[in-house]
Amino acid sequence: MSIQQNLLNIKSTLPEHVTLVAVSKTKPVPDLMEAYNAGQRIFGENKIQEMVDKWEQMPKDIEWHMIGHVQTNKVKFMASFVSLIHGVDSLKLLEEINKQALKNNRIIDCLLQIYLAEEESKFGLDEDELSALLASPTFKEMKNIRIVGLMGMATFTDNQNQIKKEFTHLKSIFDELHNNTQRRDGLQSVSTTLNTLSMGMSSDYQLAIACGSTMIRIGSSIFGGR
Ligand SMILES: *Cc1c(COP(=O)(O)O)cnc(C)c1O
Repeated sequence: MSIQQNLLNIKSTLPEHVTLVAVSKTKPVPDLMEAYNAGQRIFGENKIQEMVDKWEQMPKDIEWHMIGHVQTNKVKFMASFVSLIHGVDSLKLLEEINKQALKNNRIIDCLLQIYLAEEESKFGLDEDELSALLASPTFKEMKNIRIVGLMGMATFTDNQNQIKKEFTHLKSIFDELHNNTQRRDGLQSVSTTLNTLSMGMSSDYQLAIACGSTMIRIGSSIFGGR
């Protein structure tokens, strides 16, 4: 099936409150343009250089999301245009994003990545690290970043119960954080506006939506295998 058809099929099944990020990593610009011409305006990439190259070549009404692990020294290359950074997992990275956002006279929206999977290799904060980050004076002083939610990736497994458990766990962290920010004025500053829970990919997005996801990141089901 065509990229356009794949995209329309997926979109027709999504509830209105769920945002679709078309994950276009490794795919050539003509493929992305096919999705663009079918109405897609949010694209996700996992390498900064590749995202910059595509941003330069493509229409300027696209929202570019960085969904991969971000190296601190590369933030400057995307700071002028990136719409949302999904994989923020340290205060040090947040400080660099804040610095580069300030240089570009912007506020950059970020998601904090929470460690969910049982695998060793996945990036992300655990709950203690999340609390420590949000409580730190350095965080509270940052004016050019805004935390708009959380992101997580489930374990790579066929076990639906395992995936469901991990998504439900992330949703509960999100809800707790949401309630805390409503209550405690320290957090409900300019730096935090929680409205986004990024979870779910091609293989598990329906389950993710059932567990409370508001943003899904879909690659292969739109563009084909990589
Ligand atoms: C590649 C990638 C996706 C999309 O994966 P598909 O299985 O192709 O849908 C989603 N999220 C992240 C973080 C990715 O790196």
